[in-house]
This record gives sequence, C-alpha cells and structure tokens, in this order.
Amino acid sequence: MENGSGKVLKPMDSEQLREYGHRMVDFIADYYKTIEDFPVLSQVQPGYLHKLLPDSAPDHPETLDQVLDDVRAKILPGVTHWQSPSFFAYYPSNSSVAGFLGEMLSAGLGIVGFSWVTSPAATELEMIVLDWLAKLLNLPEQFMSKGNGGGVIQGSASEAVLVVLIAARDKVLRSVGKNALQKLVVYSSDQTHSALQKACQIAGIHPENCRVLKTDSSTNYALRPELLQEAVSQDLEAGLIPFFLCANVGTTSSTAVDPLAALGKIANRNEMWFHVDAAYAGSACICPEYRQYIDGVETADSFNMNAHKWFLTNFDCSLLWVKDQDSLTLALSTNPEFLKNKASQANLVVDYKDWQIPLGRRFRSLKLWMVLRLYGSETLKSYIRNHIKLAKEFEQLVSLDPNFEIVTPRIFSLVCFRLVPVKNEEKKCNNRNRELLDAVNSSGKLFISHTALSGKIVLRCAIGAPLTEEKHVKEAWKVIQEEASYLLHK
Ligand code: PLP
Repeated sequence: MENGSGKVLKPMDSEQLREYGHRMVDFIADYYKTIEDFPVLSQVQPGYLHKLLPDSAPDHPETLDQVLDDVRAKILPGVTHWQSPSFFAYYPSNSSVAGFLGEMLSAGLGIVGFSWVTSPAATELEMIVLDWLAKLLNLPEQFMSKGNGGGVIQGSASEAVLVVLIAARDKVLRSVGKNALQKLVVYSSDQTHSALQKACQIAGIHPENCRVLKTDSSTNYALRPELLQEAVSQDLEAGLIPFFLCANVGTTSSTAVDPLAALGKIANRNEMWFHVDAAYAGSACICPEYRQYIDGVETADSFNMNAHKWFLTNFDCSLLWVKDQDSLTLALSTNPEFLKNKASQANLVVDYKDWQIPLGRRFRSLKLWMVLRLYGSETLKSYIRNHIKLAKEFEQLVSLDPNFEIVTPRIFSLVCFRLVPVKNEEKKCNNRNRELLDAVNSSGKLFISHTALSGKIVLRCAIGAPLTEEKHVKEAWKVIQEEASYLLHK
C-alpha cells in the first residue's frame, strides 16, 4: 500500500489500523490542545484550495505523514473551528470524547442498518436510546416505542420535518382523495426555519398554500394562537384543507418559544398534523426547570431535537419522535424482493429504512448511547445549565454598556443584542451592526453571527461549544466592546 509496487491492497489491515488509528487520534488530540491558536472563522479567500492541491488524484500511494502535513498546511487554514471555545455563531454543533468514540465505533463496524436483519443491534439500540431520551424529556408515552409510536435518528432537522410533512400529506390525501394536493395548507410562524419551506417545495405543497404567520416583539416572536385560528378559519371557508402546523421551541433567530398547548388545540381540533421543531432548545428540556417550554407537546404528532447541536453527540444525530409510526411507514415504505426477509415479512421488527428518505443508514445510535452512558443525565443537565449561566453573564455585561441593547429576552443560551441607534437612525444602526459583525469576526478571536428581527440587524452570541468557559465569554465581550468603540469613534 505504501509504495504501489504491485502488492495487493489490504485496506482494512488490523495492524495498520492500529498504527494509523493511534496516530490519527494523536493528531486530533493535538488539534484540540491547540484549537485556541487558530482564527475561529477561517480567513481564507474563495478558491484558496485549488491553488494548493494538484489537479488530479495521485496514481500511487502517498504516506500518512504526507497527508497529515497537507492537513496542517492546507486544510486547517480553511477550517472554521466550530469546536473552538470562542465559537458563538449560529447554534453550537457539539463534539465530545464520548460522541467521537461512538462515531469511531460506528465507522469501525461499518454496518448499513436499513432493515432490522442487516444488524439487529443497530435498530434495537436506536429504539432503546430514543426511549431513554424520550423519558429524560418527559415526552408522553405515545412517543415511546412500546405502542405505535417511537423515535428514529435522522441526519438533520430538515429531513425530520420533510418526512413528517410527507407522512401528514399522504395521511390526509388518503382520506380526502389524491387530487386534493393543491388544497393542502401548511402553517408556521415567520420565525420557522427555512427547512420547512424546503420540505414544502420537495413535498409538492403549493407555495401559495404555505401560511407564514407574522410575529413581532410583542410576543417575543412567538406565534399567536389567534392568528393561527384566523388563518385556518379563512382557509376552511375558502374550501382549502389545513393539514400541517409546525411550531418552534427555540427559533433559529432568537430562541422564541411558541405556545404549544394553545396551538396544539387548534391543530387537533382541525385534524392537522402538529410538528414541534426543538432542534436547538430540546436539549435544555431534560432539565426540569426548562421542561415547561415543551409543555403542550402531548398535543403534538411529532417532536424533533438535534442531539448534534447542544447534546454532545457529534454531527449528525437528529432525533425525531412520532406518535403514529404507521403514518410514516405508509408514506415511505417500499418492499422490493431483494430486501425481503423473514423478520420483516412477519412484521416482527422495525425497519428504519421506512422511516427516512435514504435506504442506507449508519449506526448513529452508538454515539448517543456513548454520550448517555459515559456522561449520565445529571452531568448532561449540568453541562446545559453551565452554558445558560454563561449566557446570563454575557447578557449582564451587554446590558451594562449604554452603547448596546438586548433585543429579545434571553431564554436559553443565546443572547440577541445590538449597538443602539444614535439619534433614532435605524438604517445607519443596521449598517453599523453589520460593520461590527465583520470587524469582530475578522479579528479571528471569536465568531458570532447575525439575524434580522422586525427589520433590525441583530447580533447573536450562542453559547454552547463544549470547551467554552467564563474566560472565553468575557474575552469575547471585551473584543466586541473594543471593536465597537473603534467604530463609534472613527
Ligand atoms: N430548526 C431549527 C430551530 C434550527 O435552528 C435549525 C438549524 O440550526 C434547523 C431547524 C435545521 O437544522 P438541520 O441542519 O439539522 O437541518
């Protein structure tokens, strides 16, 4: 393998795996040791890598040293360091030793667990860990695998909302007739992630039947149930068919929380599928004091949280629970001869291929299992609480500075803030906040992102990277203040 001298390739030689594997782990451990030396946001220009790498793949083997040298010299400069303790942009995407080991084991076993028979442990462990987590979240019994409900690991919240939208679409079309597709209406707030829009595009929901209901600061960007009721009534009067509601617990822009119980009542009364997107904030709801934010989830048909955001499970691991697995499998199952087997035919098992878009699936439950076992739920609760405490401290620092304001009340570990307008000049203020964002991120010392709320450009500081400590939060605020002071006095 090393010299291409005509030897037969042994791509999974145990001794080479041992040697190279140890070296790769050392490489990654050293990366984490020095992660703070890198600019958090990659500072390269578009196309930088084309200039550094050859035009075609090598004909003959190269050494691991050569490859790792290139990783150091050419790849790492183009990496934005999501695991840096000074990464505060978007939402966190946690890695951890436990998650990493699970990922490693999954890669090592190299199974493809689309049906139970293709690796019974993969299916059964997934059912078990999703039940464990459902218990930690205190989800209603109907979401557990005992009855007709259960959980499944998807790759992303986008896939999760797509599969339940398709399940809901087919469920309603089975009762009203296939030709009614153009009458189906979807409801959400204007704070809902664009993943829903994409799902509607894929599922053939007519764009004019997507009701994006307006929110504002009076409800901290939560959807008002009266607005939903009004829209549903109007659509019913117009002969349309309301069939899907997506509510949020922790919106992407500002962690807004929709009132699930009141919205769910309307959805249930109108026989609509009710999906709850708690991609980021779901993790916090394992803490009893934050569980209130998913009160009303008992009225939902499906619930989603990304363990790969704030739950120490390396990307990707998006958890979806449904009450009625038949709706999913009726919409997504196929049964070609080449996949038939006794256990499936006898209806004795879950075949997760029928709960998702692709056929093939990785053994992702291993990493969540590792996280739950190596850390335990009490440690995970403390982990979440610590980030929320740090966010509170950051919020406090911002509120003490008269040049800044907090834009929406903080609920979890995201702080939305901005430079205040001078002499009520909103437009100038937006530009100034954009300038501040660029200046802060080009410093390489931290990375924050932005959003817009009611036309205001808002800066977002999302605390949740596994290595973040108080000193990183304080340092981040210092850099923001320094850059702001430079901008305000130039
Ligand atoms: N929903 C919410 C609330 C999110 O914050 C995000 C991403 O940040 C998504 C959905 C989409 O997530 P994914 O990348 O898993 O599709």
